[in-house]
Amino acid sequence: MEITDIETRVLRRDLDERFANAQKWIDSREYCLVRVETTDGVVGWGECWGPAAGNREMIDEYVAPRLVGRRVDDVEQVHDDLVFELRSSYHSYVPASVVSGVDIALWDAYGKSVGRSVSRLLGGRRRDEVRAYATGHFFRDVDDLAELKRIVAAEARDHVDAGFTALKQKIGLARHFPWGPDEDLELVAAVREAVGDDVALMVDANHAYDLADARRVARGLDTYDVRFFEEPVRPAVDYYADLAEGVDVALAGGECWAFRHEFERVTRETGVEYLQPDVTSAGGITSARRVATLADSANVQCVPHVFGSAVALAASLQVIAATPGDPMLEFDRTPNPIREDLAADPITNDGDSVQIRDEPGLGIEVDEDVLERFAV
Ligand SMILES: [Mg+2]
Repeated sequence: MEITDIETRVLRRDLDERFANAQKWIDSREYCLVRVETTDGVVGWGECWGPAAGNREMIDEYVAPRLVGRRVDDVEQVHDDLVFELRSSYHSYVPASVVSGVDIALWDAYGKSVGRSVSRLLGGRRRDEVRAYATGHFFRDVDDLAELKRIVAAEARDHVDAGFTALKQKIGLARHFPWGPDEDLELVAAVREAVGDDVALMVDANHAYDLADARRVARGLDTYDVRFFEEPVRPAVDYYADLAEGVDVALAGGECWAFRHEFERVTRETGVEYLQPDVTSAGGITSARRVATLADSANVQCVPHVFGSAVALAASLQVIAATPGDPMLEFDRTPNPIREDLAADPITNDGDSVQIRDEPGLGIEVDEDVLERFAV
């Protein structure tokens, strides 16, 4: 089961309607997938976070020649060797998304080689299904706050009608609109009113605020029974530590952090109660599992960040199956043909629950015809 080939496949699709979080407008979805092939003819798939540019060149030209010949069942050792190699070459810039894409593909290939799901290889399955929360409620192109409130509240109702019992909405309007923290809280009020008190509600500011505004919003959120406040400030440990002093709402963060040592500092020095590693950016399945173990020993929750293709979704579910505690799945509900069509047998929700497959590797088969359709 030695690696014979590693290469990238880049997929891209323009969206019919653009939407925004606090940082940027999103008008397309692009993925850099990683394809690993082994001596026994097995193919494994991984996915890198972020733009293909950079990830693609580094994997095809730098990583692939160094990993051909390594065994896929040495995946954790290969992961650590790759991080060491990249650190010695690029010093403080260790491209975590590159490590992630390769790591996921190796775990998939390893599982397929031995006929076991990745969750079994991670030490066993703690659950066969997981509660999913609907992520969406992005900002739209509107001039009128009342219209945006109507659109977002209607979307929230749709998710509840589809069976979801937990939702996450975006806040942090100021970069794109003539509105600020008070209007953000109006948006939260609109969703809470639309879905009632029985639905778990989370908010995500994508590090929109300075400390004063983050405090102001955190206090406002107490009125709406918000489960967690995600990325209130920029992802610096000190900022989180400052904010955690004197606010009641639980803080969440992690999609901008990578590798266990960064999360270790977060658990040691901040009040973050929900760690959100993303398998495609935190260092793959290996790192996400290490963070999940860390979260358990620090007595906080690991709730992975997921905003990728079918590969990222399947990989996240395998980690969640093996995660201690009571994790939730972030289930991206924005329109995205690549996420929905890429797997021959796509992962879907049944109400607020998603089944976790116990089939070899990540449990999905990537449809190579679909790859062609979305290829750049
Ligand atoms: Mg987020």
